[in-house]
Amino acid sequence: MLDHGHTSEMEAVLQAAEPVTRSVWLMERAGRRLGIPPEDVHELIAPQEVIIFRVPCKILGKVVNFWGCLALHNSARGPFKGGVRLAPDVTIWETTELARLMTLKCAACDVEFGGGKTGIRVDMARMYELFERKPRDLEFEKIISVDAIEYYAQQFREVFLKHVYIPAPDMGTGPDEMAFIYNETLDPASVTGKGEGVHGWLPGRRESTGIGCAYVTVRMVREVLGKDPAGATVALQGFGNVGRPLASALVAEGAKVVAVTDLYGGTHDPDGLDIDGLLEHAAKAATVGGFAGGRPIGNEALLGLDVDVLIPAAAGDVITGTVARKIRAGCVVEAANMPTTVEGMQVLEERGIPVVPDILANAGGVIASMLEYSSSLSAIKPSQAQVYEVLKTKIGENFDLAVERAQSAGTSLVQAAVELAMERVYAVMKGRRMI
Ligand code: NAD
Repeated sequence: MLDHGHTSEMEAVLQAAEPVTRSVWLMERAGRRLGIPPEDVHELIAPQEVIIFRVPCKILGKVVNFWGCLALHNSARGPFKGGVRLAPDVTIWETTELARLMTLKCAACDVEFGGGKTGIRVDMARMYELFERKPRDLEFEKIISVDAIEYYAQQFREVFLKHVYIPAPDMGTGPDEMAFIYNETLDPASVTGKGEGVHGWLPGRRESTGIGCAYVTVRMVREVLGKDPAGATVALQGFGNVGRPLASALVAEGAKVVAVTDLYGGTHDPDGLDIDGLLEHAAKAATVGGFAGGRPIGNEALLGLDVDVLIPAAAGDVITGTVARKIRAGCVVEAANMPTTVEGMQVLEERGIPVVPDILANAGGVIASMLEYSSSLSAIKPSQAQVYEVLKTKIGENFDLAVERAQSAGTSLVQAAVELAMERVYAVMKGRRMI
């Protein structure tokens, strides 16, 4: 039973309790503040459709069945949009939560998409056993992931072709897997995140999340912290697709990235790390650990550094209540999806540490996807500079609205952004008589 007093239909069907996730918690609070009737809040939280599926794949002469879930959360504002995740621990609730996050993100940045997500349970450890291979064999893992996606794309071909749900990369997938979806549909607008050269690809799509996040970080430091971004100090967790272009863009603005960590190590220099050198080192060593231009640092120490900005750009749920009590940063910018737990958020709110929520901070990727989709439909390809311009306008305008709302209503920036998003989705649902 959810906090807003309704039993979810999925719970009724599945006979399993839906966890009160971060977005459910935020949306229930927003619903109360906006005066939306509880039964309508329930519809805003609930997914429109959730499909549980089995994909029978023929891989290297064997039949392998993968199970997955396609969560179509809300399409009031446009086609369901969201990535395809391949991971061993995918669940229906996680996929639904990620789809809901996409609805909020697209609405918060005024992108004409709804929210969806696919999760396919692919356990590489089990695949190594099944095929009697030794880990880690990246070529073997690629065969598994592209084959799984190829059969998944065959199964959902019509859904993609009608642009009901438009997939994109997420954990475990990238441009290669998106190319396999394109191979199946031969429609450039049916999938985003396509690699360079694949019909309808977008220059700057790969870097877009990091670039958008750097832009909002600079605005946050200048306008909310009241500091000059040149010389501002940043601690960054994660040096992947998001973290790398983000670090470079921050340094280009004069900020000092003083510490970076990843799964395997970390590096720290209070005077600011040489990011070009770190990029070169990480490309060879596959970790930021062991960089000659800094001293070693662990994840826990990084999260507690005395800096202007802390940017979690790695995994979810890293800022728990306990971690939040030790944070000394002036603000937190959520580059990762849901890096702060509900308790973490409550502690940061109590301590007055402002947080730029993921739905604004990492929306650069979906804004670029919007451009990729629109240029695929029209065949006019924008330049990288034009892509970055749209990113900044979309994120900037909506950041302004969220900051104004937070200041006039005396709420957190996170709550203000969720309210902005929910208001937009609710208005269209009412206008279309969906609620
Ligand atoms: P990635 O796999 O390219 O990189 C992740 C980085 O984080 C790596 O450096 C990895 O070593 C590090 N990492 C992972 N788990 C960690 C942990 N527990 N502690 C410390 N470091 C850890 O992933 P990415 O594409 O950069 O995505 C990062 C986050 O941003 C994810 O939460 C993702 O959902 C979110 N996101 C990504 C995009 C995008 O366009 N790639 C868009 C929106 C949101």
